[in-house]
Amino acid sequence: MKAFYAAEQKRHNPKAFLSSGAPQPNPEQPERVERLLTGARAAGCEILRPRDQGLGPIAAVHTPEYLDFLEHIYARWQRIAEASEEVIPNIHPLVRNGRYPASAVGQAGYHMADTACPISGETWESVCWSAWSAVDAADAVMAGDRAAYALCRPPGHHAFADVAGGFCFVNNSAVAAQRFLSSSARVVILDIDLHHGNGTQGIFYQRADVLTISIHADPVRFYPFFWGHADERGEGPGLGYNLNLPLERKSGDAEFLAALDVAFRRIRAYAPDALVVALGLDAFEGDPFGGLSVSTPGFARIGEAIAGLGLPTAIVQEGGYLCDALSDNLTSFLTGFGGAA
Ligand SMILES: [Zn+2]
Repeated sequence: MKAFYAAEQKRHNPKAFLSSGAPQPNPEQPERVERLLTGARAAGCEILRPRDQGLGPIAAVHTPEYLDFLEHIYARWQRIAEASEEVIPNIHPLVRNGRYPASAVGQAGYHMADTACPISGETWESVCWSAWSAVDAADAVMAGDRAAYALCRPPGHHAFADVAGGFCFVNNSAVAAQRFLSSSARVVILDIDLHHGNGTQGIFYQRADVLTISIHADPVRFYPFFWGHADERGEGPGLGYNLNLPLERKSGDAEFLAALDVAFRRIRAYAPDALVVALGLDAFEGDPFGGLSVSTPGFARIGEAIAGLGLPTAIVQEGGYLCDALSDNLTSFLTGFGGAA
């Protein structure tokens, strides 16, 4: 299987975020890339550098206002006396009524959902290459590959059309799905990250051309708290095209595979042309976030089950944080997927 990754994706190096109000080291570390590369190589992937695709495929799912913000906010932030080194918001609109602030601080609050996505001088470059990895994975599949893997880092599924959050800036899974629509009528995004794919859901919530499904730890007591509940079904033309399958905390392989079966019924009824797997590996029992209890062999079973759908598939990396098994978990998923393909 082809895997796409560019070295520029390692340059983004966030320092901190607030967890329960306390400053903590940011877990979305560049070291994740090394572990994931090791895992992809062990699964037999050929690592390829993506092409510079320009802003087009990114602007297809994000607002121009937001992309301008992401590209330029760091330089503007540096002109504020005594500002933090990284761009971190400290005020948010309770209601987004369309009014747009002129100041850098106001715009940071408008475009950043939380403190987990600090922006430094390298962030924009890393974000673009991460998205281009997803574009090239979709292109490889449209050119005839059964599946391709995008080693997207920074991850993307918490990013809305105009809001960053949860370590995410550009929604790589959404970018890949939108790319597929250039040759497909209907695309599915199946998000198996520990956390609900709230940004992905938000981007396609009123659309029927992309079915969004997320399996995740129940947000009633878990990030992202305000999204990911079972009664969020889509709106307008998108009603019935969003499916959330929250799991109780510490659910393991059996519960996860049972939720996948529910997802597969919906996917088959949608008769899609292509699939994007938003592959979080943080549902792992040893992941620092500790939300679910999927095992390393469990990822192989999950990969095998998804491959059984028989759909052209772009696998887009989302979460999965530093722990001893991070490489093995990726190898396990990709081997299980490839073994069934
Ligand atoms: Zn996650």
